[in-house]
Amino acid sequence: MSTGFIGLGAMGAPMARNLHRAGLLGAVWNRSTDKARSLATELGVREAPSVLALARTSETLVLCVSADNDLLQVIAALAPAMRQGLLIIDCSTVSANAARAAGRICAARGAEFLDAPVSGGVEGAAKGTLAIMVGGEAAALERAMLVLQAMGKTITHFGPQGAGQAAKATNQIMVAGIIRAVAEGLAFAAAQGIPLDKTIATLSQGAGGSWYLANRGPFMERGAYPAGFRVRLHEKDLKICQAMAAASGATLPVVEAALRDYAQLIAAGHGDEDVSSIFRLTAPLFAAAGHEPTAGAVEA
Ligand code: NAP
Repeated sequence: MSTGFIGLGAMGAPMARNLHRAGLLGAVWNRSTDKARSLATELGVREAPSVLALARTSETLVLCVSADNDLLQVIAALAPAMRQGLLIIDCSTVSANAARAAGRICAARGAEFLDAPVSGGVEGAAKGTLAIMVGGEAAALERAMLVLQAMGKTITHFGPQGAGQAAKATNQIMVAGIIRAVAEGLAFAAAQGIPLDKTIATLSQGAGGSWYLANRGPFMERGAYPAGFRVRLHEKDLKICQAMAAASGATLPVVEAALRDYAQLIAAGHGDEDVSSIFRLTAPLFAAAGHEPTAGAVEA
């Protein structure tokens, strides 16, 4: 019995590779079978024919799928194989309510469930340095620790089921503001005629530095936004934040502004690009002053 992995996307595949390196990965499953087949071949692990088959031969399952409905679909498919001793660790970013709903389904069948969303991007997933925010029982977290340590560096227990997702939602609000500030700052720098490579390298070391400036500033400089963290996924997260804030009677200005920006990017066909493609919206801010907008800019 070992760990099975479900959801081999941009994050899941490198996370599964790190589980394999730690000697913990037994088998993988992915909805599109080509991804499961190629990773299973690469790592020399089994490709499970179904989530049920995977659950029956695993002690622990790690999930990394897209959104609330996807998590709940996978949990429903797993339900017949749930049993005492099965531990399900969900690394997807979903709402706290979806995490609690998944937890109830698992508990009714004797299985344990942890919400364990991650932060650190595809780079953190590849390096095994993710920050992992955990909600659920302390005893389940203790059992999950080896698996989580194979994928992440900072593992924090925030409280009962749903608390990990609350921490992740907090992170996503901050990301919304930071990526916009980086995009606005670099558009400004370009208009001032200072070199963006030096700006990124130097300011990353200062008080205005951030993971996004250091890792996504170069995407803006190149005007190429390969999917690391897709606009659509962050939009999905921000809608979760919006709903969670609304439940407390609050509206979040940064979230509202980001949702407007993302709606514009998605309408212009950029929903599957990395969120740094928000530079397409900030670069034209200086066009009125006679600066050439960056290639691929979206007219505001
Ligand atoms: P992705 O590349 O789009 O991969 C999504 C994965 O989920 C794919 O393997 C997909 O299968 C699977 N999936 C989606 N819906 C499913 C369903 N209904 N049933 C079964 N499998 C399903 O996304 P990602 O970037 O890896 O993100 C995965 C999760 O991590 C998301 O919740 C995201 O918000 C979060 N996250 C992403 C990042 C990032 O930088 N990318 C960082 C932190 C957290 P198919 O291959 O068949 O489509």
